[in-house]
Amino acid sequence: MIKLNRPACPYPAALENGNYKHPRNKEALKNASFDKCMYCESKISHIDFAHVEHIKPKADGKFPELEFDWDNLGYACPKCNNAKSDKYYAECPYINPYRDDPDEHFFAAGTFLFIKNGSESADLTIRDIKLNRPELLEVRFTRINEIQKTLNACHRCTSPVLKQLLLDELESEASEDKEFSFFVKAILAAHAA
Ligand SMILES: [Zn+2]
Repeated sequence: MIKLNRPACPYPAALENGNYKHPRNKEALKNASFDKCMYCESKISHIDFAHVEHIKPKADGKFPELEFDWDNLGYACPKCNNAKSDKYYAECPYINPYRDDPDEHFFAAGTFLFIKNGSESADLTIRDIKLNRPELLEVRFTRINEIQKTLNACHRCTSPVLKQLLLDELESEASEDKEFSFFVKAILAAHAA
């Protein structure tokens, strides 16, 4: 999970008219999280598959007043959205990347996401949204393995020009628009240490 910035709502009238997933607003949420799920950082290949996530759930009469509140909406993959479902704990809310800094609550070690500073919110987030589910471990492993190959090539490289190209490539792979960038950054930091 990475820190996200919430853009202004491009089409507030849709929310006022009771539509929380108007394409213009959904597109803005998509762009704000770089076409990735706000929780697991998976790229969501087609916008139709993405869910407009209610950070505080609208179901069971929990937060009906927030169903059309722009600040309560996000962009999530169906797996995370379904895992989170309508759960919410006022005394220990899930980490919300629009409000919280995930770097203060999580750290990545290999393919696993761990809690930092004993964050109970992070603990609940990982458990309930299943942020270490087997499919995620598998795709993160593939990603990390590719990064590791580039790192190895970089270490072996004798040409300064090629080495710089590889370093630039690695830096770009850790940028926030790339899938699982939280994990890629951790791998690069481990090698830089
Ligand atoms: Zn997800």
